[in-house]
Amino acid sequence: MADPKPFPLPDLNHEATAPLWQAAARGQFALPHCGDCGTLHWYPIGQCRQCHGTKIAWTPLSGRGKLFSWAVVKRALHKPLAPIAPYVSAIVVIDEDHLTRFVTRLIDCDPAMLHIGMAVEVRFVDLGYPALETGIRAPLFAPCITDGG
Ligand SMILES: [Zn+2]
Repeated sequence: MADPKPFPLPDLNHEATAPLWQAAARGQFALPHCGDCGTLHWYPIGQCRQCHGTKIAWTPLSGRGKLFSWAVVKRALHKPLAPIAPYVSAIVVIDEDHLTRFVTRLIDCDPAMLHIGMAVEVRFVDLGYPALETGIRAPLFAPCITDGG
């Protein structure tokens, strides 16, 4: 019998999202940006959701945003993630475009202290699931150190 399928890691060569992983490897948080109207996009679809323009280019951003929503996962549904539970899955509104929301994981936080609108910032962290070293730097988010509340 074959080994069980490992945790599904991101496909670094997937055309739509490869620039995200390439930027993260350089320590940059970048998203697709419309050259016609300036809208940022996540998830990339190759066309602007506002003006339907196709002049899309990946743009480095500040990596700062606000917490839009989150869920504390106390019991991982996938066994390789069990050692990191509880963990926080989150949606972050990007500071440069408040209509753009990025799905990520919050780290270095006390889930009891989270609140909507909390200032957060990107941290580039090896996915490093406990049972698997990945070498993949992921754009995770954490509360801003300078955030007063
Ligand atoms: Zn546009």
